[in-house]
Amino acid sequence: MNAPQIRHRIAQNLAEVRERMAVAAVRSGRRPDEVLLVAVTKYVGVEVMEPLIDAGAAVLGESRPQQLWPKVEALAGRSIQWHIIGQLQRNKVRRTLPLVVMIHSGESLRHLQAVDRIAGELSLRPRVLLEVNTSGDATKHGFMPHELPQALPELAALSHVEVRGLMCMAGLETDAEAARRDFSALRELRDRLRGSCCDRVSLDELSMGMSGDYEVAIEEGATIVRVGSALFEGISW
Ligand SMILES: *Cc1c(COP(=O)(O)O)cnc(C)c1O
Repeated sequence: MNAPQIRHRIAQNLAEVRERMAVAAVRSGRRPDEVLLVAVTKYVGVEVMEPLIDAGAAVLGESRPQQLWPKVEALAGRSIQWHIIGQLQRNKVRRTLPLVVMIHSGESLRHLQAVDRIAGELSLRPRVLLEVNTSGDATKHGFMPHELPQALPELAALSHVEVRGLMCMAGLETDAEAARRDFSALRELRDRLRGSCCDRVSLDELSMGMSGDYEVAIEEGATIVRVGSALFEGISW
């Protein structure tokens, strides 16, 4: 594929994702602008990200800090915001915090206490989501749902980290309707927790839904969807 073909296809893909998001939002009684698209760019290099940004993608997500860093540098002149959506190991927090507006993968109290300490040293107030292991899969990261009622007051006591909501990954081997159960479980958990906690902790955001299930996620209350492969369909580079 030549560059104009890639450019055209990416613009088309982005328009289609946005259209489907809008339809799903309206179907669930919300306005399309109430759901944020994080364009996940971990599969592609900067040369494919440029046309995506030109087509209007304004919020980009990377799952690995080591891939995020050089891309932020290469795209420094563009008006985009970055989210880190994958595991943020402790030794990568200091370099990553100044680059991102949101961390989707707050995975434990200890992890977020470390993030908080470094944020304090850097005078930053990172917005974080709490990753919840809704599927109960032991190989996955995140808080178990039953840990959250205890963790929330301790998270509320952190002075730099700002908790804004919950995030989940649907179980891997599942279709969209199985994912729906994970998504509605996350929303119900959020609704229960909201009643019991806390000043300084907001649970307004629900980050859930990827290429295979973002419409279902929106129907179940997602405020943020993380879409990667659907944006790059039909493109070879
Ligand atoms: C890769 C990734 C996505 C996007 O997945 P697609 O199926 O390609 O849309 C979303 N969230 C996380 C945490 C990811 O690592």
